[in-house]
Amino acid sequence: MTYRLGVLDGDGIGPEIVPAAVRVLDAGLAAAGAEPVEWVPLPVGAAAIETHGSALPDLTVETLDKLDGWLLGPHDSASYPAEHRARLNPSGFLRKHFDLFANIRPARAFEGTPALVPGLDLVVVRENTEGFYADRSTYRGTGEFMPTKDVAIAMGIFTRPAIERIARQACELALRRSRHLTIVHKANVLRTTTGFFLEICREVAADYPQLEVDDFHIDAMTVHLVRHGADFDVLVTENMFGDILSDLTGELAGSLGIAPSINASYDRAMAQAAHGSAPDIAGRGLANPTAMIASGAMLLDWLGSRDAADRVEQALRTTVARGTRTADLGGTAGTTAFTDAVVATIGEPT
Ligand code: ATP
Repeated sequence: MTYRLGVLDGDGIGPEIVPAAVRVLDAGLAAAGAEPVEWVPLPVGAAAIETHGSALPDLTVETLDKLDGWLLGPHDSASYPAEHRARLNPSGFLRKHFDLFANIRPARAFEGTPALVPGLDLVVVRENTEGFYADRSTYRGTGEFMPTKDVAIAMGIFTRPAIERIARQACELALRRSRHLTIVHKANVLRTTTGFFLEICREVAADYPQLEVDDFHIDAMTVHLVRHGADFDVLVTENMFGDILSDLTGELAGSLGIAPSINASYDRAMAQAAHGSAPDIAGRGLANPTAMIASGAMLLDWLGSRDAADRVEQALRTTVARGTRTADLGGTAGTTAFTDAVVATIGEPT
């Protein structure tokens, strides 16, 4: 069957790295002998404000509803006019609207790059719909509010169904990897909320006796990751802890420029680099497209094209190991030269 996938370039370096990802994914699918994907370009971000009066036009959301998944470039919502900034940003909206509850963020050190923790190879599985990110955990309105001008309140929300489904995703992923699951929480202080998260993750993990399961407080976890991050495999945690932890693990692996992610529900997934729109280097052909390409490969894997996904991931690693690197990894290759090298590597006989 032919998958139909959306292409949403986004802002900043998005129009450079998203087309690079499409090129490489096409090459990976062809090399694997898989059906080509039908790409569906859709407006988003600052360009969509110009053309459609909204950073996320209805047309985009309605079309995404009919697709199997999509590539979302980074957005620079801080640069939007004030009335557009007041809304939930495009990626937050899409995660909430399509109930993309699992944010899966691998961090792996590439051979030949300056990783702070050599040998790091783990995945942060972040619950994406509730927890301490109060701006997206309510049906209407927001869980963050000011009852008076001197008081600000944020609600943390933890529900059994949301914790059960993210815990199960993490267990399934750990089964495919090194079978080591780590639950990250703060149950010594936030006993009722993150203690509940820990308890339910433990309950779900009991269905997976093949896994080695441990747990750590979020603060201790940051120390363990810096000191011996290579000992970890799959980390499952709530929304805000996962956001912070995955920036740390991305950087420990060498650069945010190689940190991919997908946001998935049971029936669709959104590939999204873990980094932002990098306005400081946008339009100069310098951006590292690796994170966006690898996010696309995760999407292909999630759709069942594992062979194509593996070829793309392997080609990225080989290209970097041979010395073709963008500036963030200490090299001199621009976005296009790096992408050309990855496509050429995929085309090499195996
Ligand atoms: P956001 O709030 O959207 O996450 P940010 O400004 O906090 O954005 P980034 O946009 O990710 O963070 O940029 C942080 C730094 O990393 C910048 O110096 C940027 O140039 C660099 N950077 C981010 N992504 C890449 C990339 N793909 N290639 C090269 N450098 C990058």
